[in-house]
Amino acid sequence: MALVPMRVLLDHAAENNYGVAAFNVNNMEQIQAIMAAAQETNSPVIVQASRGARSYTNDAYLRHLMLAAAELHPQLPIAMHQDHGNSPETCQSAIEQGFTSVMMDGSLSVDGKTPSTFEYNVEVTKKVVDMAHAKGVTVEGELGCLGGIEDGHGAGMTGAEALKHLTDPDQAAEFVAKTGVDALAVAIGTSHGAYKFTRKPTGDVLVMTVIERIHKKLPNTHLVMHGSSSVPQELLQIIREYGGEMKETYGVPVEEIQRGIKHGVRKINVDTDNRLAMTGAIRKVFATKKGEFDPRHYLGPARDAMKQVCIDRMVAFGQAGQAGKIKPKTCKEMVAFYTKGK
Ligand SMILES: [Zn+2]
Repeated sequence: MALVPMRVLLDHAAENNYGVAAFNVNNMEQIQAIMAAAQETNSPVIVQASRGARSYTNDAYLRHLMLAAAELHPQLPIAMHQDHGNSPETCQSAIEQGFTSVMMDGSLSVDGKTPSTFEYNVEVTKKVVDMAHAKGVTVEGELGCLGGIEDGHGAGMTGAEALKHLTDPDQAAEFVAKTGVDALAVAIGTSHGAYKFTRKPTGDVLVMTVIERIHKKLPNTHLVMHGSSSVPQELLQIIREYGGEMKETYGVPVEEIQRGIKHGVRKINVDTDNRLAMTGAIRKVFATKKGEFDPRHYLGPARDAMKQVCIDRMVAFGQAGQAGKIKPKTCKEMVAFYTKGK
């Protein structure tokens, strides 16, 4: 199957009350892990690449790996998404590379660090929506600022600061009306990276009620949770056991994400958990088989470990079993859909 616009997957998820994990990729083993998990669970797939991933892979490798995934799994609908585009130019180059979905993160300025103004955010996001929808490509916007930094992108706020930049539900409604985005990333107190919370998060640091209020205002907009790795303690433990150093940290509990899915969350970004799983598996090989030097013998177990995380999330978010039920649409068909809506 050719890559499908992300909107097709999110619409189906909304109609059937489930969420779809969006996993970040930088290399072949990660793409293989996601596809093997999707194959085993019959799940629709969102694969996303940050700007950092695109420069690491030099775009062409990434594009061909995604085309290989589509060729090898013709029965699975796959969307390829630009994570945190910092400018309309970045989104445009992603579309040229065959991405079927782009995120214009205008919550930050073009440097990807400084919080911007609402007006700037509306302006750049609207520009990307006009450009992308003309090609049938899906657009995700962001309002409010997340904590932490991911691949060099982020304002680097701590949890306490991030709480001051939560998404305002009224402003979210205005933002969607002015830009026409398909999906909206909301800030609810989560952070990018492994160090999200210093204790198991409760309602004062992870404000799930914001999602409920935004969903009431915007029942037809697909909400996106960023920084939503769960940081399983057992994965941290494997890294520590085999010589790694991970400070005490907690992620977003899967039950909280499931609560979000009941209130309009359709895309859940997961990256850190996969990184932790791969790192633990590689450390274990290095610690227990000191003579090992064939990369396949540590990248293979790393791939298996990531596959298991992907399966766990696909099942927990409800996307497992859904791939065969989705009627795929092409970007061209989505152009007609957007034109009709105008
Ligand atoms: Zn993010």
